[in-house]
Amino acid sequence: MRAAGKIVAETLALLKSRIGPGITTAELNRLAEKECQRQGAKPAFKGYGGFPYAICSSPNECVVHGFANDTPLQEGDILSIDFGVLYKGFYGDSAITVAVGELDDETQRLVTATRESLERAIAKAVPNGRLSDVSYAVQSWVEPKGFSVVREFVGHGIGRNLHEAPQIPNYGQAGQGPRLKTGMTLAIEPMINAGVPGVKILEDGWTAVTEDGKRSAHFEHTVAITDNGPEILTRV
Ligand code: MG
Ligand code: MG
Repeated sequence: MRAAGKIVAETLALLKSRIGPGITTAELNRLAEKECQRQGAKPAFKGYGGFPYAICSSPNECVVHGFANDTPLQEGDILSIDFGVLYKGFYGDSAITVAVGELDDETQRLVTATRESLERAIAKAVPNGRLSDVSYAVQSWVEPKGFSVVREFVGHGIGRNLHEAPQIPNYGQAGQGPRLKTGMTLAIEPMINAGVPGVKILEDGWTAVTEDGKRSAHFEHTVAITDNGPEILTRV
């Protein structure tokens, strides 16, 4: 899983380095495919439930599961890229939200709060912790800042399958749910909206967008719980 996670991290870093005004998500998707091929990994999402691309590319009001297309990104946009691979029988899964040029203050605040909420959630992925401590860490960080937590999509266990038990909501009371143990591997992924928490699915059957058209941010890491605390497997 360390090896799979490293490929995911390196690929996302490569995509991030290319993001700027004018690039399209179709180009980013091709880059991700090429990088998978070079590393001998299989893109985890392509073909999963019929999803057609290696990356989920979700700009601005898109929450998750956006399709790559030929629309150039513009100054001031944000783009969430969710990417996973299967490598030697194991999965890695990670997501980043990247600024296209300069962001307005509200968008920057949303992206920062979402990234911080993931860090705080990861800090709760420790032996003998409780699963809902991870959930609570996200909700209790973003809601006081005026943002909202998406309910329809959640984090998950990960390993020999992309999605394994348990589900990891980004909301809930602390101190509940299963005890966390050394050796568990979790994909923790806050999806945070600037406005209302609700989402709707577009006609393509996949793309989730915010109900109110306001922006949404998403960060994710695959994390191993170790005796020494959380180990982030998808960080270069
Ligand atoms: Mg993901
Ligand atoms: Mg995931």
